[in-house]
Formats: sequence, C-alpha cells, structure tokens
Amino acid sequence: MGLMQRLRNHVGLKPNPLSAATKATRPRTDGADVSVSVCPYCAVGCSQLVYTREGRIIDIEGNYDSPINGGTLCPKGAATFGLLNNPHRETKVKYRAPYSDHWEERSLEWAMDRIAERVKETRDATFEETEEDGAVVMRTLGIGHLGGATLDNEENYLIKKLFTAGLGIVAVENQARI
Ligand code: SF4
Repeated sequence: MGLMQRLRNHVGLKPNPLSAATKATRPRTDGADVSVSVCPYCAVGCSQLVYTREGRIIDIEGNYDSPINGGTLCPKGAATFGLLNNPHRETKVKYRAPYSDHWEERSLEWAMDRIAERVKETRDATFEETEEDGAVVMRTLGIGHLGGATLDNEENYLIKKLFTAGLGIVAVENQARI
C-alpha cells in the first residue's frame, strides 16, 4: 500500500474512486527514449527533454533537472514541438521573376540552387582584398545574412564560420536574443 493511501486510511478517508481505465492510463511519453537538449530561442538556455519513439519526436518539455528552468518553458520554448510538427509548414517557395507580374511556385531544391548561384555571382563581383590605403580586408559588402530564432547553436556556428571566415561576408546578424 502506497504512502498516500496509508495516510488516507489513517485519517479515515475512503480509497480514491478511480476506474480501472483511469488507473491504467499512462503518460503519452511513457517508455519513450528521452534526450536532453537546449531551447533554440534565446540566451536563457532552458534545458529541454526531447521524447522520441521509433525515431520520431513525440513530445518536448522542460527539463526538471535543469538549474536554469527547473522543468518550465516559456510560451515560445513550450511551442518547440509544434514548430517541428506543423502541417501548415511551408515546403515550397514563391518566386517572382524579374519584371514578372505573378508569383510561381518552386521547390526548395530549386531555391537553394538559385541562392547558391546568386551568392557566388555577387561575391565574385563585390569581393575586396584590400581597402584604398592598402589594408587587407578580404571581404564582401554585397551580401548580408539575417538568421532566425529557430536556428540552433550548431547551425549558427556553421553559418558564422562559413559566411564570415569562408565567404568574407561582414553583415551577419540574427533576430534572436542571442
Ligand atoms: S525562449 Fe523561453 S524557454 Fe526558450 S530559452 Fe528563452 S526563456 Fe527559455
């Protein structure tokens, strides 16, 4: 007999009137694999528990062992699961060609190739090795990059490394609070 039931017996309370179905009810994360991660949104760095079953994420919640957030997440962090599993998420891009009066639907693969081509063209056309006084700069001011809050630490690291050290882009920013 559990402690709570012993206490209830001690003060003369009857057992909880739970049905067999209720007693057999388990949390949806029961038996799932769990990994510790970090919320991607801001510099508070709340710890998250990511539950997976058969390789698919089934839930994300605050990590109650974390000294930072103690099991809680703010509304943004609590919506991380919804960010990953959203049937309204866009999987195609809209493209309007120069001088065109209408949008066309294109695949993400097409958009990625197009962006890579344009970055290469622009960098080739605008890259500066030195300034007028001879100072070595090895940069392009022709391209900028603005990241989003849902980029994770690893993606931001790679973006900074590739765009700044690799391509010489100076204007690299992020709208997240990091
Ligand atoms: S966005 Fe919210 S949950 Fe995520 S790290 Fe910041 S405070 Fe924590």
